[in-house]
Amino acid sequence: MALDAVVVGAGPNGLAAAVTLARAGLQVRVYERDERAGGGAASRELTLPGYLSDVCSAVHPLAFESRFFREFGLQNRVRFATPDISFGHPLDGGRAGIAYRDLERTSAGLGVDGPAYARLMGPLVQRTAQLAEFTGSSLLRVPADPRAAIAFGIRSLEQGGPAWNARFRTDLAPALLTGVAAHTILPQPSVAAAGAGLVLGAYAHSRGWPIPIGGSQAIIDAMVDDLRAHGGELVTGVEVTSLAELPSARVTVLDVTPRAFLRMAASRMPAPYRRALQRFRYGGGVAKVDFALSDPVPWANGDLRRAGTVHVGGTRAEIADAENHVNRGRLPDRPYVLAAQQSLFDASRAPAGRHTLWAYTHVPAGSPQDRQEAVIRQIERFAPGFRDTILATSSRTAVQLQQHNPNYIGGDISAGAPSLVQLLRRPVLRPDPWRTPVPGVYLASASVAPGPGVHGLGGWHAALSALRHDFGTRALPDLSPRDGQFIDPPPSIREEPS
Ligand SMILES: Cc1cc2nc3c(=O)[nH]c(=O)nc-3n(C[C@H](O)[C@H](O)[C@H](O)COP(=O)(O)OP(=O)(O)OC[C@H]3O[C@@H](n4cnc5c(N)ncnc54)[C@H](O)[C@@H]3O)c2cc1C
Repeated sequence: MALDAVVVGAGPNGLAAAVTLARAGLQVRVYERDERAGGGAASRELTLPGYLSDVCSAVHPLAFESRFFREFGLQNRVRFATPDISFGHPLDGGRAGIAYRDLERTSAGLGVDGPAYARLMGPLVQRTAQLAEFTGSSLLRVPADPRAAIAFGIRSLEQGGPAWNARFRTDLAPALLTGVAAHTILPQPSVAAAGAGLVLGAYAHSRGWPIPIGGSQAIIDAMVDDLRAHGGELVTGVEVTSLAELPSARVTVLDVTPRAFLRMAASRMPAPYRRALQRFRYGGGVAKVDFALSDPVPWANGDLRRAGTVHVGGTRAEIADAENHVNRGRLPDRPYVLAAQQSLFDASRAPAGRHTLWAYTHVPAGSPQDRQEAVIRQIERFAPGFRDTILATSSRTAVQLQQHNPNYIGGDISAGAPSLVQLLRRPVLRPDPWRTPVPGVYLASASVAPGPGVHGLGGWHAALSALRHDFGTRALPDLSPRDGQFIDPPPSIREEPS
């Protein structure tokens, strides 16, 4: 049968595009270079048999807020555990900031800074849906609720500038905020890092930071199942190096970086567009360490044993110093480490009584350094005895991350630095950045608005643009699960650690 659409890359964005196009009744084929679909949402046994690790993404605050996943009914297809403690942040001496799925409870734990933290986060927590709408598309589009955008903008400027400590008197609340902002691998303080941190923080205090039962791969498998159920095909083990290799189809959707797109089709691009893609900048890298553990991490602060995510690295000043080292091309001695404790909430991740720990740290772009020892030392600082719980590890450098997935250039897991400029110009300054000037070709990856994260929105917007421009339809395809795809019992899951 003749193809209507070809998609290159079976990451969350490629599959979101494929599902949307297939649900519009089109004949779709996806090509993926890996042997299995997944990209940044794959899960595998990386350490020992029986221990399931998330290869890249682990925790999914964006999955609950993404318009694509809401249309898709993700929570009716995949079971999630949503920890009461979205994230925790240890400081020396057994102290910790704890971000609950409840702003009041969080503020109550922050001592004299509790009210100041509540005033900062409150207006955002009250408007998470509007924030998700505003940040889930091209930032050049007019926000539906300007009040949410203004509240967000003012707070990002404050927390991303030299006065970021002005409202606080102790070190706990600032550390909590910087721990989230540092997800961006940007210099600290900076407006884009603060903005991302505030959005993720607001989600942490509302619907939480969910963990998929069975690994991030469960999200991918749900999309692949839906694609196949609607006549779509997935071809794995095929790396596409040029558009000329692809079978004829009316549209092509690329879940790749601008650099890869240039390699595939530079000669077909108008010169200004080609130059814009050449100007696109890739950011700092990640070195990852996965652990198989005999016991849960023995955090000195007991509350951290109930947290889904833990931001390790100490005070705001220490984390800023570590992140600024990375952004100047240097390895910090005491790095920032992001850790997730999925097995506390999902028994399928490890044999009974055993545990996994997912961790990564930031490194200069393209660093070949193995950071296992540095990561272990930082965790041990706040969890004495951690080293004794380690049964096996799997460590990957930034260079190896790119070898695993070419979208992560130099280990940049955002597929392009999420700086302020590159959030507006992602990868070009247009309200429809998904549509390229090459006829029928659309970009869908995290290099395109709205940027990194497992939300499928790049793919969804690319598919909707293709439907409008190449198939003449503005109708939103119905993406909801068909009968029989609902899980039982319904997923109002709020699980506590086992
Ligand atoms: C270590 C790490 C931790 C992360 N943690 C989180 C997290 O906890 N939460 C979160 O929301 N996000 C997280 N992310 C980010 C998130 O995974 C990505 O932003 C997201 O996966 C981007 O989706 P995508 O579809 O654009 O690209 P990808 O997921 O990277 O998928 C791209 C796919 O295209 C394939 N491909 C590329 N080039 C070709 C080609 N030429 N031919 C054929 N196939 C090709 C790749 O193999 C890959 O499968 C993390 C990422 C990493 C690496």
